[in-house]
Amino acid sequence: MTVMYDRVALIGLGLIASSMFWAMKRAGLAGEVTGYARSEETRDVAREIGLCDRVYDSAAEACEGADLIVLCVPIGAMDTVAREIAGVLKKGAVVTDVGSVKRAVIDAVGPHIPKGVHFVPGHPLAGTEQSGPRSGFAELFDNRWCVLTPEGADKDATAKLRSYWEALGSNVDEMDADHHDLVLAVTSHTPHLIAYTMVGVADDLSRVTDTEVVKFSAAGFRDFTRIAASDPTMWRDVFLNNKDATLEILGRFTEELFALQRAIRQGDGEHLHEYFTRTRSIRRGIIEAGQDTDAPNFGRNPKQ
Ligand code: NAP
Repeated sequence: MTVMYDRVALIGLGLIASSMFWAMKRAGLAGEVTGYARSEETRDVAREIGLCDRVYDSAAEACEGADLIVLCVPIGAMDTVAREIAGVLKKGAVVTDVGSVKRAVIDAVGPHIPKGVHFVPGHPLAGTEQSGPRSGFAELFDNRWCVLTPEGADKDATAKLRSYWEALGSNVDEMDADHHDLVLAVTSHTPHLIAYTMVGVADDLSRVTDTEVVKFSAAGFRDFTRIAASDPTMWRDVFLNNKDATLEILGRFTEELFALQRAIRQGDGEHLHEYFTRTRSIRRGIIEAGQDTDAPNFGRNPKQ
């Protein structure tokens, strides 16, 4: 148990912030944790379940005197909260975020960070389809990657934030923000869009077949429905803010889909078999890398 930051402020108290809080508690990483959420309802829940040592009604109050400030709001709200807290940030403090898109967050938050305060953007590649202050659990980041996109940020501040994420249970990598956005468009953003689409298609179809789509829901479709249950605000903001990379990957996806469609129409079993053999080996690689399980849903705080 080593305190790494005397005071940590969590701005936004949903899945990621609450998981970070319980993981910080587990490892004893913070002297004190303050928090802020936009709605009174969320602040009340946070107080009821003991999420944060103190919960404030304004982001600025929560950040006063903080050594580490973590922005845990949807991408579209980053600019507003950065603007609100800019005036109270103390010299030497580190501001980071957990946003799923990095270039847009750097553009939104960077201009508000005063001289002498370090901004080190980050993104934990961990999550569930749940949201809100009750959804977090200490194990969310265990053995997951966290990507930092420091882009010339202070080396000591970056190294300390890296150690902090490692103490939360993550493996940490550093990357250029644009590269991050392209990689995530492939591994997370476009797959979510496909899941949303597939569930939408099935929903249209279920009007024809009555309730059969739900009744005979096989594993593939069930997995899609889980992904498509993810928070609408968060995912709207992801697509609006990672437009170019998502459109690029969607273009490639459509080309491949057409090729498979042609193979099916032409009865080209060889093409289909080769394709599925290649994709199967990708799955094996993921298993070998230990990244095959969904975030475990165990170990919730007993009060939740
Ligand atoms: P969440 O559970 O929905 O919580 C979001 C929090 O942000 C809530 O406290 C909400 O306040 C607050 N908020 C929403 N809109 C706001 C606004 N306009 N101004 C101020 N506060 C606002 O979300 P989350 O899943 O923790 O996601 C937070 C961030 O983590 C996002 O940037 C997301 O891209 C990133 N992320 C998510 C995942 C994932 O799988 N969920 C994974 C990695 C990174 P109220 O409760 O009061 O509405």
